[in-house]
Amino acid sequence: MTEFWNEGDPIADTAAPDGPIETRWERRQFGAKLVNPANRRKLTVIVVGTGLAGGSAAATLAEAGYHVKSYCYQDSPRRAHSIAAQGGINAAKNYRNDGDSIYRLFYDTVKGGDFRARESNVYRLASVSVNIIDQCVAQGVPFAREYGGLLDNRSFGGTQVSRTFYARGQTGQQLLLGAYQAMERQIGLGNIEMNARHEMLELIVVDGKARGIVVRDLVSGEITTEMADAVVLASGGYGNVFFLSTNAKGCNVTASWRAHRQGALFANPCYTQIHPTCIPESGTHQSKLTLMSESLRNDGRVWVPLSQEDKRNPSDIPEEDRDYYLERIYPAFGNLVPRDIASRAAKNVCDEGRGVGPGGLGVYLDFADAIKRLGRKAVAEKYGNLFEMYERITGEDPYKTPMRIYPAVHYTMGGLWVDYDLQSTIPGLFVVGEANFSDHGANRLGASALMQGLGDGYFVLPNTISNYLAAGPFEKVDQDHAAVRQAREAVQERLQKLLSIDGDRTVDSFHRELGHIMWEYCGMERTEEGLLKAIGLIRGLKEEFWQRVKVPGTGEQLNQNLEKAGRVADFFELAELMCIDALHRRESCGGHFRAESQTPDGEALRNDEEFSYVAAWEYYGADGKPTLHKEDLDFEYVHPSTRSYK
Ligand SMILES: Cc1cc2nc3c(=O)[nH]c(=O)nc-3n(C[C@H](O)[C@H](O)[C@H](O)COP(=O)(O)OP(=O)(O)OC[C@H]3O[C@@H](n4cnc5c(N)ncnc54)[C@H](O)[C@@H]3O)c2cc1C
Repeated sequence: MTEFWNEGDPIADTAAPDGPIETRWERRQFGAKLVNPANRRKLTVIVVGTGLAGGSAAATLAEAGYHVKSYCYQDSPRRAHSIAAQGGINAAKNYRNDGDSIYRLFYDTVKGGDFRARESNVYRLASVSVNIIDQCVAQGVPFAREYGGLLDNRSFGGTQVSRTFYARGQTGQQLLLGAYQAMERQIGLGNIEMNARHEMLELIVVDGKARGIVVRDLVSGEITTEMADAVVLASGGYGNVFFLSTNAKGCNVTASWRAHRQGALFANPCYTQIHPTCIPESGTHQSKLTLMSESLRNDGRVWVPLSQEDKRNPSDIPEEDRDYYLERIYPAFGNLVPRDIASRAAKNVCDEGRGVGPGGLGVYLDFADAIKRLGRKAVAEKYGNLFEMYERITGEDPYKTPMRIYPAVHYTMGGLWVDYDLQSTIPGLFVVGEANFSDHGANRLGASALMQGLGDGYFVLPNTISNYLAAGPFEKVDQDHAAVRQAREAVQERLQKLLSIDGDRTVDSFHRELGHIMWEYCGMERTEEGLLKAIGLIRGLKEEFWQRVKVPGTGEQLNQNLEKAGRVADFFELAELMCIDALHRRESCGGHFRAESQTPDGEALRNDEEFSYVAAWEYYGADGKPTLHKEDLDFEYVHPSTRSYK
């Protein structure tokens, strides 16, 4: 397959300490260089993104005394996409005394990620999880409590313990308000310079180090260059490459992609999480899909009619004519199997013609038993706002009739490659939260993204970045430095190009078509034939985009078409790399299911012999191909085994 990529040298994570896993993080912290508090004031750090990862990082760095410049494209930092997170955040507190521990969270996460994540990172994530809850409680985050006053927990897929902390169905919102207030305190003190409605459009690299960014003021259109001693990207995930996803409409890959073009390797781009419980698509008018939190699978039972011919109302279908297929196939985990497994199982029953609702693309999520067992009031207390949201969107009352759900794109495990210090392959460029690839392997367990974002921002990055900054402050870079000028001019030229095409197709129509190609050939199931077809289609569509796209308006004003056009242009390049990554990985693992690699009973078949590595891609070279660098994964503690949730 070298027609599509080159093989490069292997890559290693040299920042990770070895030795006993329990003390690796402590030893890394002790070994890292520190910056004296008086010197921190002289150092400036740019943080792109104000979601849970960027908000917590900016607040903590400023609290430590660094000067922080923060950017987001929304009108307020607290509108970052993290606010949409519903279900909860994991932590190994073992409040339920049900056998949980840091080791068990570590074990579940490595296994849940289908043995494609680094053990060192995952162990650290599990260790800091307990601090996150303390930090957030101290900030006043109103986590749900039990009658006795203790913080309540619930279960999420892929685990047999209750370790998910939640604030009704608004966990992300409440956590983000905590991080935002911590940021606001530092904005008030003058330590954070907040730049809302500014979009990063390029990374500035000077003498091999990340030294700044080019941003566009989204209201006035002004392009400026912003300099610093280090740059942190906390710009979120790229699920919107599929057009329809549960992500906020604005989520995009531009910040990461620009860094990738400048030399930062992009890891495992094809690992996409498809979430099993979303409201099914209702028509071509739709521009986004809505998630129904996974927490609902704690009490909701998933089923379809036993027979393809059965078109009765769900309430008229007796128990013996129903197939609770997750409970049947996976009795140990039942409705709480991990997301990749639940999504594929839903696809399989729909492919068999047993799906429900319009087009047969749906399965039931039924609360009748839970209401009988717990009472309507208790169910409403746990899930009331989710039920209300479902009713508003579908017009159906889930207290009376089962919800209809179907899988949808939700999260991207891939992202910029980072070492244990969360530093990319460009010195001085750090990446946190969903934008990096670090902790989830091929599949993220529910409630672990919030944990990772806050772990990175509150606890990991503020410690590791000092090791880099200890060599600063770095030499001042003038605005007319050749690298700065070139970066600024490149942004201006690109915007001008987009505006000047003046074609006859909208940006959205291109994006929708690209998303369709991605869902069809690089979605829940991938084949070599389909991926080859997708690469051809994407290349053709990209060419057409640069000839026919119509971007009305000018660059000197608020112009959302121009913003979208730049993002979609980057999605085209990313989409091709995702397909190449999916093509090269001739195994099934987690969120990447290759139809050619399955067991006789249709389960994912991993190939540890050949593919137990992180695929870190270097941007396309002059020959038009990306270069693959492999980082081998070692499993000293959780030995790769066939994942079985039966
Ligand atoms: C509907 C939904 C529900 C979810 N529920 C849960 C849950 O219950 N538990 C869980 O653990 N996870 C959940 N997730 C996943 C989780 O919410 C995300 O992975 C996480 O919030 C990402 O946080 P982040 O800080 O990395 O990025 P985001 O919150 O996406 O923030 C990105 C930030 O970067 C900024 N940005 C991006 N590009 C640029 C640019 N070029 N220039 C300037 N600024 C830029 C944005 O303005 C924004 O401030 C859910 C996801 C969805 C879609």
